[in-house]
Amino acid sequence: MEVIEEIVRTQREYYYNGETKSYAFRKQKLETLRKVIKEYEPEVLKALKEDLHKSEWEAYTTEIGFLLEEIKFTLKHLKEWMSPERAKSPVTHLGSKSYVHREPYGVTLIIAPWNYPFQLQIAPLVGAIAAGNCAVLKPSELTPSVSAVIAKMIREVFPVNYIAVVEGGVDTSTELLKQSFDHIFFTGSVPVGKVVMEAAAKQLIPVTLELGGKSPAIVNKDANLNLAAKRIMWGKFTNAGQTCIAPDYLYVHSDVKKALLEQMAQVLVEFYGEDPLSDEKYGHIVSDRHFHRLKQFLNDGDVLIGGQHKERERVIAPTIMDNVSWEDPVMQEEIFGPILPVLEFTDIHTVIDDVRRRPKPLALYFFSESEKMQDLITSSISFGGGCMNDTLMHIVSPYLPFGGVGSSGTGSYHGQASFEAFSHQKSIVKQTTKFDFAFRYPSAKNGLKMIKRIMG
Ligand code: NAD
Repeated sequence: MEVIEEIVRTQREYYYNGETKSYAFRKQKLETLRKVIKEYEPEVLKALKEDLHKSEWEAYTTEIGFLLEEIKFTLKHLKEWMSPERAKSPVTHLGSKSYVHREPYGVTLIIAPWNYPFQLQIAPLVGAIAAGNCAVLKPSELTPSVSAVIAKMIREVFPVNYIAVVEGGVDTSTELLKQSFDHIFFTGSVPVGKVVMEAAAKQLIPVTLELGGKSPAIVNKDANLNLAAKRIMWGKFTNAGQTCIAPDYLYVHSDVKKALLEQMAQVLVEFYGEDPLSDEKYGHIVSDRHFHRLKQFLNDGDVLIGGQHKERERVIAPTIMDNVSWEDPVMQEEIFGPILPVLEFTDIHTVIDDVRRRPKPLALYFFSESEKMQDLITSSISFGGGCMNDTLMHIVSPYLPFGGVGSSGTGSYHGQASFEAFSHQKSIVKQTTKFDFAFRYPSAKNGLKMIKRIMG
């Protein structure tokens, strides 16, 4: 534990020598990161296979490729993001110039979960480096192979007093949270998010919290059912449903429920064949605890599709469940696995009321050809972000800030938002010394009269 204190101390010392702040330094470190990710690609792919049975295709698109794109985008725009932003000056500031400087926070902590264990650790790091910070990384203990590769990779290219990796579980996290970081970036569950925020509050450390929740997919009767089926099955069963923004449950208009379910059954065979338990493209559940938690949900209603599972390999077939209610355990917590409960509606306002009564979702997906209905959903439900007629795709765009709202998270990142997440906006007025207004001082005779003319 003294080691952790020592890391933070040496990082702060290094940060204050100023080296991490120049454009040249940040650019070079991002290039180094890109190069080492490419070099480590085979090791990362192997580790992701070991920990989560991720196929090469899934691992490349959602973890490695995603990061390389993020770094490329950041390198392209970094100079522009770093330049002080000129702001207007009001009449009270006549003669002065105003700027907003993006200043690095300093020494930052990035805690990652296990579901995209490589990407969710390194993507925030891209923001931290771009913004000129030092960082301590804490990968998830539930994906030990990926955690080890991250530690090895980072140690190979960055000194500990700049970027350090501290491996471990809850004890390690707890110890890290006692340190006086300048910013904490946490990705994980809502309960642990509360622990992190409480620890940060004790020292008034600013936080970014990327949390989870129950994200609905809603299919209206005018939706393109064929595409809705494909896109919902893809969003739900990628990484065996262990995606923070996966559709957690499906709300479908009763007029199209039967047709949509038929299409979804067909799509699942197209994606994962007749025996998904043995399909190389299909992910496995991360731990025995999560496997058993998910298996219990299968008793909460009727299994329409799937339900097969193999305990030894921790795999559960893509499963669609009917006849579930909000009172069932499967509807009480984030599922975070390959089980999709189906609810039906006839009036969209009951859906709006149901979602509003619960914690604000991280994502929401609405399928309808009507722009009026799309606008109704966007304007009447609060959620982190989402898509109309698709799933997951909003997370992939570097032009869109990604994050939750309320209990699904605080703050956002990706692209410029990552740079902003790790920067403090420091406002500076450069005042003129060529003249001075006497009326601003308490000694001025008619000062208040003048001030009232300008202000109010
Ligand atoms: P988790 O909250 O259990 O763990 C996340 C990290 O926190 C791990 O590194 C873990 O070691 C650490 N941790 C666990 N308990 C702790 C404690 N008591 N004190 C301090 N640190 C602790 O989350 P998880 O199971 O790894 O990930 C799944 C959750 O993460 C889901 O809820 C999912 O929705 C969410 N998630 C969110 C996003 C997002 O971008 N918003 C992305 C991925 C996952």
